[in-house]
Amino acid sequence: MAVPCQVSEAHDATELRRVPGRDQVDADWLLGLLEARPLPAGAVAMGITALDLAIPIFTFVFGRARELGHAALVSAARLAPEFYGLAPNAALTLHRAVIEVVHELGHVGGLRHCAMRPA
Ligand SMILES: [Zn+2]
Repeated sequence: MAVPCQVSEAHDATELRRVPGRDQVDADWLLGLLEARPLPAGAVAMGITALDLAIPIFTFVFGRARELGHAALVSAARLAPEFYGLAPNAALTLHRAVIEVVHELGHVGGLRHCAMRPA
């Protein structure tokens, strides 16, 4: 099934809100920016960033979304092997990003986490 997509302009990285005391972007703040963008009825804003994301109660997050919301956010920063000192692997990073996008879109569709996967 084909899904129509539209690529929008990136947010100005000089205005990012950081989690206090950390060099990580506040994921909930960035998700809020996505949610504030006007969208056609039934559309979902899917934000993808190379920035490392976190929220105050977690040391990092791979992504964020609200159940039954209309926006989701994914960070590719920790999906890349080189983040952990390993050799770059673009195919693996892309594979992980697709999994994370589907995960976050599941939340937008109303799904919660199962007991096997925290956060
Ligand atoms: Zn989740």
